[in-house]
Amino acid sequence: MTDTHDAAQPAVAPVYTVTQERKIVTAIPGPKSQALHERRRAVVSDGVSSALPVYIERANGAILVDVDGNQFVDFGAGIGVTTIGHTEASVVEAAASQLQEVIHTLFTITPYEEYVRVAELLAEHTPGLWAKKTVLVNSGAEAVENGVKIARKHTGRRAVAVLDHAYHGRTNLTMAMNFKANPYGAGFGPFAGDVYHAPGSYPYRDGLSGEDAAARTIGYLEKVVGAADLACLVVEPIQGEGGFMVPAEGFLPALQRWCTEHGVVFIADEIQSGMARTGRWFASEHFGLAPDLVLSAKGIAGGLPLASVTGRAEIMDASQPGGLGGTFGGNPVACAAAIAVFESIEQNGLLAEAERIERALVTGLARLESRYDVIGEVRGKGAMIAIELVQPGTRDTTKHPNPEAVASIIAYAAERGVLFLSAGTWGNVLRFLPSLAVTDALIDDALSVIDDALAALG
Ligand SMILES: *Cc1c(COP(=O)(O)O)cnc(C)c1O
Repeated sequence: MTDTHDAAQPAVAPVYTVTQERKIVTAIPGPKSQALHERRRAVVSDGVSSALPVYIERANGAILVDVDGNQFVDFGAGIGVTTIGHTEASVVEAAASQLQEVIHTLFTITPYEEYVRVAELLAEHTPGLWAKKTVLVNSGAEAVENGVKIARKHTGRRAVAVLDHAYHGRTNLTMAMNFKANPYGAGFGPFAGDVYHAPGSYPYRDGLSGEDAAARTIGYLEKVVGAADLACLVVEPIQGEGGFMVPAEGFLPALQRWCTEHGVVFIADEIQSGMARTGRWFASEHFGLAPDLVLSAKGIAGGLPLASVTGRAEIMDASQPGGLGGTFGGNPVACAAAIAVFESIEQNGLLAEAERIERALVTGLARLESRYDVIGEVRGKGAMIAIELVQPGTRDTTKHPNPEAVASIIAYAAERGVLFLSAGTWGNVLRFLPSLAVTDALIDDALSVIDDALAALG
């Protein structure tokens, strides 16, 4: 009687191996973290930075535990990677059991079922009812690279379009696709050519309707590139590093229609916004999009490295055999973890959990917005919520960015055991990207810390 999964039964309450609470027992960073940081400085490249130099020893649910025994409520989730929770039990079990069976063969030499199963799950859960195929790779940037490569092969065209405020990775091509030069590109050129940056939709700052913003984007692309030379348009349905901008209604559908009319492959970079993050399997669904190709990574395998390009079979099949792949792409352990993630989202009703988190965060943050005029906007969907901070007295005028306030809040919260990340082109966005395991009580607790941090700004 152990193998019946009745959908009508309530989800089993998760069992946590770490108490789900913040607890600070040393200065931040503590002595052991400081010692590790010294060792790190000698041997780890300065080009790799850490937002908070506390060294983590354990993680479970929504909590990180550092080497000094401090516990942090994690509102970053490794940038939206441990979406279903740190060391989620089913992911641990699936990966551990896969480790005993086969760790690597290389799918392009001797394949295995787990890769095929992940491709089936992606075909089933990405938007669009047509036949879909997938290639698995190791990182988000690699998924972007492959999406572009496939679109070029399919169309025989050269140019790639992206939107302002985009972030797509740190490889040569993706550096050229990012909006922000510093820190992502400065000094690392020459960059890949034929990448065009078109204006997007940023309702808080451009005030444009979706229709007007789309006309501006399309007008730009037609003038600067010409649809006939454009292989693909790559968009994040809700921009991640850019600051969680939810585009104006109708903006993305208009872009997709224009792409379809002109044979341009419409690619949704759902690396941060996908896999239940926004209360849908993919954020594209909020906007009625059915992209030609969908890119996944971050949350797909519960913390193990895995990424994918999934899309229309005829586009995905454009490559000659052997043109796609890579040594580690679709590693069996990462695939086993991804299968567990899909099952956990389904069986534990995690799309609804993302909506619960949205309600708790947006309600609490709106309350803070009414009391603190540095909060310019509260926005986002599901467990992908942000506040954009502006200088005092500019909320109704110039909306002058306030990255100092974001930095102060992050530092204040870290010392009290809550981990937040910044975002935004000006660094003036505070993002809430928790795992779906975060409870309403933990959210209220974190919001009270932000309240105190805002009060302390003076
Ligand atoms: C993180 C991210 C990437 C890059 O993924 P990596 O795994 O870091 O290479 C690309 N696009 C978006 C939207 C991202 O958030």
